[in-house]
Amino acid sequence: MDFRLTDEQSLIAETVREFAEAEIRPHVREWDEAQGFPTELYGKMGELGLMGVMIPEEYGGVGLGALELSTVMEELGRVDPAVALAVAAHNGLCVGHLSVAASDEQKRRFFPKLATGEWVGCWGLTEAQAGSDAAGTQTRAEWSEERNGWVLNGSKTFNTNGARAHVAVVVAVTSPGLGTKGISAFIIEADTPGYRIGRKEDKLGMRASDTVELILEDCVVPAENLLGERDLGFVDALKVLDRGRISIGALSVGIAQGALEAALDYAQERRQFGKPIASFEAIRSKLARMAARTRTARAMVYRAATLRARGESFKLAASMGKLYASEVGMWVAEEAVQIFGGYGYVKDYPVEKFFRDAKLCTIGEGTSEIQRLVISRQLLV
Ligand SMILES: Cc1cc2nc3c(=O)[nH]c(=O)nc-3n(C[C@H](O)[C@H](O)[C@H](O)COP(=O)(O)OP(=O)(O)OC[C@H]3O[C@@H](n4cnc5c(N)ncnc54)[C@H](O)[C@@H]3O)c2cc1C
Repeated sequence: MDFRLTDEQSLIAETVREFAEAEIRPHVREWDEAQGFPTELYGKMGELGLMGVMIPEEYGGVGLGALELSTVMEELGRVDPAVALAVAAHNGLCVGHLSVAASDEQKRRFFPKLATGEWVGCWGLTEAQAGSDAAGTQTRAEWSEERNGWVLNGSKTFNTNGARAHVAVVVAVTSPGLGTKGISAFIIEADTPGYRIGRKEDKLGMRASDTVELILEDCVVPAENLLGERDLGFVDALKVLDRGRISIGALSVGIAQGALEAALDYAQERRQFGKPIASFEAIRSKLARMAARTRTARAMVYRAATLRARGESFKLAASMGKLYASEVGMWVAEEAVQIFGGYGYVKDYPVEKFFRDAKLCTIGEGTSEIQRLVISRQLLV
């Protein structure tokens, strides 16, 4: 398999890199401390096409593929993983679920605004009692003739972009007792009565990306907002996660690359015992291993993206790529902190943030333990 980027893909990566360096890099610490980035950033990213990377051109997107989305995720993750996570949740989860299951009419209603960043999307699968076991969802959706709509009650935890989202895709039980075959997905506009934002999480990392609870109290959703077939919403959600894992893998590669670059620069500047620390064998060995693992992680993620772009089966490759890249992101960030010594432990340098942010990638969209479960199931069939 050829992993070289085409000229067009390299140009996309360069363009996103320049944007991230100019528009994001100067604010990374400020936004981390403020626990949020300005809402206008979504619009700026929309102008560049980053909010509708895979939305077809006929619906206002740029109509690119999984490999291009991976390069976008990597370049954003290299500078600010929290901004990258917001973009991943919008493109991979909300838009991703619409891409899997929306009717043409629904695509016409939602894609043009989501593609420009005028609207931001979030995705609610997780609940307080339904995390890795997402099929344990307790949010209920009951059809009401009287109200001429689905009445949703329940709450969703850990919704990335939830505080500022205009539209949420949420899953709820429609046929109790049928387990994974009794859950449906709904598109909810944020101004729908009965939809409100609950607690905002105060997180270890990815702090500039908002993570909130969504509360649904007698929230009436019209029939035309049922997303996909009734009772097949969970089946579709699993497809969304397979795709989303490629993005989280790519984001992790970006974290590893960003931490590696910072460590390479620092190791050549910092002098101890009369020499740059890069001259010590222990530091050189760390840098070599960090670079090799980052490159391997990238190859695994690109492989999954390439399989997807070719229309081939990518479930196994996506899980492997996400598992490996997220653990490499965490490991490289930790090694980078070590290379910075005491300065790696303070906020004046970027590596402590990479270290905090990286951890999320081993948890979100399926923990490392769940990836191993998915991988072993694929291997054992
Ligand atoms: C910052 C952030 C953003 C998020 N964004 C979103 C979002 O936008 N939308 C959304 O729906 N969700 C989101 N999530 C939720 C995320 O996907 C879940 O946190 C994740 O799936 C794990 O669920 P949990 O936290 O309930 O952990 P649990 O499922 O309770 O897991 C706890 C531990 O048990 C392990 N475990 C569980 N089951 C098994 C098993 N069968 N075998 C072995 N080990 C197991 C897990 O690996 C983990 O180590 C987000 C989470 C965070 C932290």
